[in-house]
Amino acid sequence: MPELSIIIPFLNEEESLPELVAWIERVMIANHFSYEVIMIDDGSVDESWQQVLQLREKNPLIKGIKFQRNYGKSAALNEGFKAAQGDYVITMDADLQDSPDEIPSLYEMIREGKYDIISGWKKKRFDNALTKNLPSKLYNYVTGKMSGVKLHDMNCGLKIYRNKVIKSVEVYGEMHRYIPVLAKWAGFKKISEKPVIHQARKYGVSKFGWERFVNGFLDLASIMFVGKYGKKPMHIFGFWGSIVFLLGFAIGAYLTIAKFAFQQYKMTERPIFYLGIVCVILGTQLFLAGFIGELISRNAADRNHYHIDEKLGLA
Ligand code: UDP
Ligand code: MG
Repeated sequence: MPELSIIIPFLNEEESLPELVAWIERVMIANHFSYEVIMIDDGSVDESWQQVLQLREKNPLIKGIKFQRNYGKSAALNEGFKAAQGDYVITMDADLQDSPDEIPSLYEMIREGKYDIISGWKKKRFDNALTKNLPSKLYNYVTGKMSGVKLHDMNCGLKIYRNKVIKSVEVYGEMHRYIPVLAKWAGFKKISEKPVIHQARKYGVSKFGWERFVNGFLDLASIMFVGKYGKKPMHIFGFWGSIVFLLGFAIGAYLTIAKFAFQQYKMTERPIFYLGIVCVILGTQLFLAGFIGELISRNAADRNHYHIDEKLGLA
């Protein structure tokens, strides 16, 4: 098994690839690392895949996966994670914005054994201030608050992981933005960061537009929700459903007693009457949502799938 697996997802980066791979090879040779490079073509329509084929001819440690169409960076990373064999796994962008020169120090830091993940931090960033840097600050702040994983640059493409970490997370949609959060849910809490050099994009254009804001935050919501309640939906829907229903029931009981015991009338003109009805209906619906969720999760193929760290005397 190699020491390092370097995973590089790319979409239409034909100009950057040869330069990037040559640079990685220089760093690997200079440091005597054993390695593999896994390049995932996320549906490029330019000559990127031809570049990979040529690079592999010269160096069999360059491996490739080619998607039939564009599935997104998360999907590409996910396939790379499945294939990675190295003890430690590095992810980096293909556009030369992340520097391979950072690899030796990241490797050294994680090899001490204190960390599961070390995330790059583009402390001095060379992207557009308004469309990239500012939204990124807000996004890191909100994600940190919601998930408890405090990183300055959660979505930095350059990261190093222990092999076990990436084998325990599954990413799709826009979830590559939250891999440290997913890792934390999977039990890998030793997450740190290291400032890394960042460069302006040399060739081509950014592959992410404004939709990333909406999709990114929706995916954060699903991650938080699934992580917390995915395996026990009744605990949230059932709980709130019962409370809301009981409130509605209490209002109904109050109005009934008021009418029959104290001869109060014109119940339908009192706002609380409507609140009572809404609560009973909402409560029932919430409870049912929880119940149905519970039935679904009971039928899910991975309902009893847990990540086991070690086994003794067992296969
Ligand atoms: N990328 C990808 N699939 C996509 C979009 C992007 O594999 O659908 C790759 C892209 O080629 C690059 C990395 O993800 O290697 C980061 O993308 P980009 O540099 O466009 O993002 P930015 O740096 O602008 O945030
Ligand atoms: Mg980039």
